[in-house]
Amino acid sequence: MLDHGTLETGTVDPTEALRHRLRHSAAHVMADAVLKLFPEAKMGIGPPIHDGFYYDFEVSRPFTPEDLQKIQALMEESITEEHPFQREEIGREEAFKLFGDQPYKLEIINNLPDEATLSIYRHSEFVDLCQGPHVDGTGNISAVKLLSVAGAYWRGDEKRPMLQRIYGTAFESREALENHLSRLEEAEKRDHRTLGRQLDLYTIHDEIGPGLIVWHPKGGLVRTIIEDYWRELHKRHSYDVVYSPHIGRSNLWETSGHLDFYRENMYGSLEVDEQEYFLKPMNCPFHIMIYRSDLRSYRELPLRFAELGTVYRYERSGVLHGLMRVRGFTQDDAHIFCRPDQVEDEIGGVLNLTFELLRAFGFSEYSVMLSTRPEKAVGDIEMWDHATGSLKSALTSRGLPFQVDEGGGAFYGPKIDIMITDALGRRWQCTTVQFDFNLPERFDLTFQDAEGTRSRPYMVHRAILGSVERFFGVLLEHYAGAFPLWLAPVQALIIPIADRHIEYAEKVKAQLSIKGFRVQIDARSERMNLKIRNAQQQKVPYMLVVGDKEAEADAVAVRLRDETNLGAMPVEDLLERMGVEMSR
Ligand SMILES: [Zn+2]
Ligand SMILES: [Zn+2]
Repeated sequence: MLDHGTLETGTVDPTEALRHRLRHSAAHVMADAVLKLFPEAKMGIGPPIHDGFYYDFEVSRPFTPEDLQKIQALMEESITEEHPFQREEIGREEAFKLFGDQPYKLEIINNLPDEATLSIYRHSEFVDLCQGPHVDGTGNISAVKLLSVAGAYWRGDEKRPMLQRIYGTAFESREALENHLSRLEEAEKRDHRTLGRQLDLYTIHDEIGPGLIVWHPKGGLVRTIIEDYWRELHKRHSYDVVYSPHIGRSNLWETSGHLDFYRENMYGSLEVDEQEYFLKPMNCPFHIMIYRSDLRSYRELPLRFAELGTVYRYERSGVLHGLMRVRGFTQDDAHIFCRPDQVEDEIGGVLNLTFELLRAFGFSEYSVMLSTRPEKAVGDIEMWDHATGSLKSALTSRGLPFQVDEGGGAFYGPKIDIMITDALGRRWQCTTVQFDFNLPERFDLTFQDAEGTRSRPYMVHRAILGSVERFFGVLLEHYAGAFPLWLAPVQALIIPIADRHIEYAEKVKAQLSIKGFRVQIDARSERMNLKIRNAQQQKVPYMLVVGDKEAEADAVAVRLRDETNLGAMPVEDLLERMGVEMSR
């Protein structure tokens, strides 16, 4: 079912494959260095990840920046010494002996099936339980850099010990590493958690609970603009906006199957009048009930129910991350119920809406993945072929290149996932269009066809932004907080030079407000330059300085947040300029 997605990980191009081996090898070299400096350290796991690698250790105290420097220096030494990586296969007994003083390694071995082949990799005196693959030797690790330390629970489980995780990265060349580091620096400046605070958009509180967001007035305003636009767009594309409750009875979730296959993502039940209820992890069953509330005829179809539906899903506290990974979020969800002969048009319509929406927010680069039927699947093969064909032809007819993940679809239907590329070239999974051959069966959805017989409708789940919270985080980082004019919470800030200019500032404010612009006056008795600097930090698109000259000429002196100084301009001209800039 619709998931709110993650940053895309790994691809299979040759550079990425090499980097994967490099980083995995660097993780071993790092663990070797850590054990030399901290002989008592217990090793967790050390995999390559997207853009780098990490290794977890149990140590008596957290690593310091000085520790990282020492570890890095030892790593450089090992790289200069060009130790070869050697693979060996060993028996269980031997493995137990080899890792006798490494309890986490022993736990991993104990959890492997008896018949599993155990392999180890050695370099210099270091040995690690590992499947590989690795580069030939430490000398192949051309450029490596340790980045940070964070606490991480063993196996991501809060009930297990907290280990110290060192993150690092490795590249095939110095140059590639330097490029990456400057991108990281830029990404850090744009971190939505920092910007969220700086721009006073949202917060997360321990008192409320991890992964639960409260939206402040400015964040709430931007969100409202996003949602208003979303509703307007959906009305224009002939969707019906619906609402559904946050809880539903257990029998609903039994029928839908969620209590079988999605239980671990759902929160504990609550009791109302001796009935068991669950917080909703998805909106689908509610929209299905709307469909089922009446006999449906072929003439009524397609039905498109859209909802900004807030759902709650359990995520381990260790993976929660700002707005990107949360426990309560609002999906821009919709379910389409249609006849078989309408499938092609419906998918085409979803794609048109998708690209209109994403483009309005400034995203014009996409990558698309089509996932097809897995071995174990429900639904007729003809329905799968029909649905998959409609997804393919909708993409092809729009000239959209796509990759195919053969057999990668969910058991209940094929889907397409669309990733957007942000200003830093990072890809984010947002949109999913997913056929479902399961729920219409489970809820026995039917419509009366032209011959008067009961037929099964096709059902499509789709979310374009994915989750409003996460999309907001992506937007914030994409624009580094400098929202385009139509989204900016405060579009213009009027700065009177002295108190006697406040009256004129009010007049300008009224002229802008009446045109629908969001305007404030900074009437504090601070220096003008400080006010301008504050407004630039708040990423306000227009700063309008007003003094004697401006008041006399019905003008404003215009500054932009990127420090451009446009000079004096009649208010009429400013209104025209802002009007043009408002178009999406
Ligand atoms: Zn390894
Ligand atoms: Zn759904």
